[in-house]
Amino acid sequence: MAQAKATGQLTPSVAASGQESAGRVEAQAKAVAIILFGSPGSGKGTQAKYLVDWLGIPHISTGDMLREHIGRGDAIGKATEERMRAGSLVSDELVNQLVFERIGEPDCERGFILDGYPRTTAQAEEMMRLLAAVGAGEVVIHLVVDYNIIISRISGRRVCPKCGTLYNAVSRPPKIEGVCDLDGTTLVIREDDREEVVRERLIQYERQTQPLIEFFRATNERLIEVDASREKPEAVFQRIRAELKDLVQR
Ligand code: ADP
Repeated sequence: MAQAKATGQLTPSVAASGQESAGRVEAQAKAVAIILFGSPGSGKGTQAKYLVDWLGIPHISTGDMLREHIGRGDAIGKATEERMRAGSLVSDELVNQLVFERIGEPDCERGFILDGYPRTTAQAEEMMRLLAAVGAGEVVIHLVVDYNIIISRISGRRVCPKCGTLYNAVSRPPKIEGVCDLDGTTLVIREDDREEVVRERLIQYERQTQPLIEFFRATNERLIEVDASREKPEAVFQRIRAELKDLVQR
C-alpha cells in the first residue's frame, strides 16, 4: 500500500506540531478525509454532525446514501433494499462507486467526513486509491463502545424521516416525545434498527469491519481511538476536536 503512506498526512501544521511520526508531510495535500470508524450505534452519525458544524466539510454516510436511493425507488435502491433490510452489507463495487462519485464533487475539495465507509478490506483498499487520486490525507477516528451499551442505544434510537436528525430516548431525547425538535415531524424507528436486524449488523461488523483496525495500523495511518461509551456525545466530540485540532485546516 505505497499510496497509503504517500498520502498519509494532512497539512503542514502536522509537522509544526511535532507529530511527524504518522508519516511524511505532503505540502500539496489539500483535503482531509476524516474516517469515522466504529460499530453500529457507536455514535458515528452524531459525531459527524458536530464535525460538519465545526469544519464545514460534508458528511458522507454510505448508509444515508443507500437509504436515499431506496426512498427514491431507483435502480440502486431496488438492488440494495433487501440486503439492507436483512442487516447485510451491500456490494463493495456499489459503495465504492457511490463514494468515488461523491468525493469528486466540488464541496469535497477541502475535505469530507466518511461515515460507514470503508467496511471491508476491499473497500479500505479502494478508499486508499481514491484518496490518493483526489490528493486527500486521512485520519481515522475509532469510536470504541461496549457491546451492551450499543444494544441499549440502538433500541432507543429514533430518527426524523424529514431532516435525518437522530434522537435517543436516553442520551438525546427530543423536547416533545416522538417529535422532531427542528421540524415537528413524527419520529420513526429506522427499518434496520429493528432488533433482529441490529444483531445481524453487529455480527457483520465483527466479522468484516472490526478487522480493518489492523489494516489501518498496517498502513500507518493516523488512528485516533476514543472511548465513546461513558460520556455524552458533546464531551466525546470535545476530545475528538482536541485530537484533530493540529491536523485540520479550518
Ligand atoms: P450503522 O453504521 O449504524 O450500521 P449505516 O447507516 O452506516 O448504519 O448502514 C446501514 C446499512 O447500509 C448497513 O447495514 C449495510 O446494509 C448498508 N451499508 C452502509 N454502508 C455500507 C458499506 N460501506 N458497505 C456495505 N454496505 C453498507
